[in-house]
Amino acid sequence: MQTNLIISLEEFPEEGRFLSGELDAAIFGIDSAALRSTGPLSYELEVQLFETELMVRGSITAPFELRCDRCLKNFPYVVELDDLAFSYDVKGKLALDVTDDLREEVVLALPSYPKCEISDLECEINDTFGDFRLDKDPQPGVNSATPSGDSVWDALDSLPKK
Ligand SMILES: [Zn+2]
Repeated sequence: MQTNLIISLEEFPEEGRFLSGELDAAIFGIDSAALRSTGPLSYELEVQLFETELMVRGSITAPFELRCDRCLKNFPYVVELDDLAFSYDVKGKLALDVTDDLREEVVLALPSYPKCEISDLECEINDTFGDFRLDKDPQPGVNSATPSGDSVWDALDSLPKK
């Protein structure tokens, strides 16, 4: 599989070029228990040359397997980046290798603290604390103050005396 995306600048068509394909997952060099690349980087790019400036725009995706920070289970995650835009000064160049830039965008998009939820999966360990919250109403009918302001001993005074 392709391991580099090299854009040739020779006889570049005025209307631009559309490039799509896949780059080998090996370009990431990512393979650990907590983070593993599971497939190629797919790209769909529109490339245009304006005099000495090359504009590269489009989208890339790449699948990974991450380990949830909370429950330590592995789960699949796909980095999807749309609306990417790069611009290069290509004066005097015959070709341009954009592999590193594409790889970097994907790596930067990987979450630092992966959790199941980012792939819409239910995490075994729920940290919302919803079950532990004390949200019951306070007990009704308990007032600490006597509304009349009278002393509680006044009631005793009104009792018939012997
Ligand atoms: Zn989890």
